[in-house]
Amino acid sequence: MTPPLRPRRFLIETWGCQMNELDSQRLAGQLMRQGLLPTRDAGEADLLLLNSCSVREKAEHKVYSRLGEYRLLKRERPGMRIGLCGCVAQQEGERALARVPELDFVLGPARVGELAALLPRLAVGERVVAVGFPDQRHYDIDAVGRLDAYKGMVTVIEGCDKRCTFCIVPSTRGAERCRPLADVVAEVEHLLAYGFVEIELLGQTVNHWREPGGDADFADLLDAVAPLPGLRRLRFVTSYPRDFTNRMIERLRIHANLSDYLHLPVQSGCDRTLRRMGRGYTVAEYRDLVARIRAARPSAALSTDFIVGFPGETEAEFDETLALIEAVRFSAVYAFCFSPRPGTAAGRLADQVPARLAQQRLQRLMDLQNRIQGEINASLVGTETEVLVTGPGKEPGQVVGRTSCHRIVHFPAPGSAEVPAPALGSLVRVRVTRALPHSLLGEPAAAAPVGLDRRGDSRQPRLPVVA
Ligand code: SF4
Repeated sequence: MTPPLRPRRFLIETWGCQMNELDSQRLAGQLMRQGLLPTRDAGEADLLLLNSCSVREKAEHKVYSRLGEYRLLKRERPGMRIGLCGCVAQQEGERALARVPELDFVLGPARVGELAALLPRLAVGERVVAVGFPDQRHYDIDAVGRLDAYKGMVTVIEGCDKRCTFCIVPSTRGAERCRPLADVVAEVEHLLAYGFVEIELLGQTVNHWREPGGDADFADLLDAVAPLPGLRRLRFVTSYPRDFTNRMIERLRIHANLSDYLHLPVQSGCDRTLRRMGRGYTVAEYRDLVARIRAARPSAALSTDFIVGFPGETEAEFDETLALIEAVRFSAVYAFCFSPRPGTAAGRLADQVPARLAQQRLQRLMDLQNRIQGEINASLVGTETEVLVTGPGKEPGQVVGRTSCHRIVHFPAPGSAEVPAPALGSLVRVRVTRALPHSLLGEPAAAAPVGLDRRGDSRQPRLPVVA
């Protein structure tokens, strides 16, 4: 008897930001439509995709070292195809094919929607380079392999025109392109109709969104999306401080379902460094923005990014960054040592800070932030908060979820005929009982028992789907 044909399998590895995560979901969706199934085992994958990030040198090295591992696999299984996607793909183009003979194709971020069309060419052994920024881009909202059961990401703006002196994104993701408001609303409605309860609007400078050819700005986009029925939480990343207007801040007062969590990268606490980074704001302006946001939304939880050891950064200037962290008390900080990127103005600066010194500064910064974060978490013990359930907890009988300010909370979920365990995507009121360094423990609050505060009893937990 002829054995049944084994469906072809694919594996996608993703590095980097939420934009890459969503791009990976778009790649997966196209492949599933072509009948391929996902696998976690590279050894059985017929198609391996590396969706890369080039924002730091280390991430770029990692992707090449992974390609080195996969080229050995391909020697054993020549029928397998390997693709490099994402920002390194755009940056390297043809060079990547020359450097890795086993690599079959290179697909830039603006060409993600073309993967399905490439498959027949790959099947006959053609090596393909698809990079650059075509005017017409294919984006099929029906072909996105949404990995979350409750949260959908929606791109509202691609690329960036800011040209901060350290950043490679404008050359890997291209010039800014805003999606029309009607398209964004249609995609959000599509996701809500499917049962998603949290929507995350994405863009490198998400709050710089403008209606193409029109007057509407990001505040208007929030007004159009936030009231849509079924939308429990609306988040957006990444906001550019200079583009955060008072109209947008006012939306934090108006729309209760806007998340408390705001990511507002500052990069440095020193004016001279900010000027040399080309950021376009001062420390005082940033602090004023924080004050206005907190006045409008006292429960706002701010996270930020820092680059430590920017060329020419002195010890005293670094101390100004520490002072800003003390003053603002961020809920979370993402900090990295400066990494020179090809083609950027800062990459050519002569007065680079020695790697060891930058590393020591980074450690001091993280020690300070860990202390502050611990204090903030400890202050939450005894309070009640609304938690959106995101999955099973680490311990048996526990579930885990996120607060509106994006903190992780573990709490017990009994799960019985009388008191069912909460479904993924349901909202539960939880009392915080203990603070850990990076998460909280809690128990369901008596006022709203587990399982009752949820939208629609027919909604069941789901596994990855194509929405
Ligand atoms: S705003 Fe600056 S840091 Fe952010 S993507 Fe654009 S150039 Fe890069």
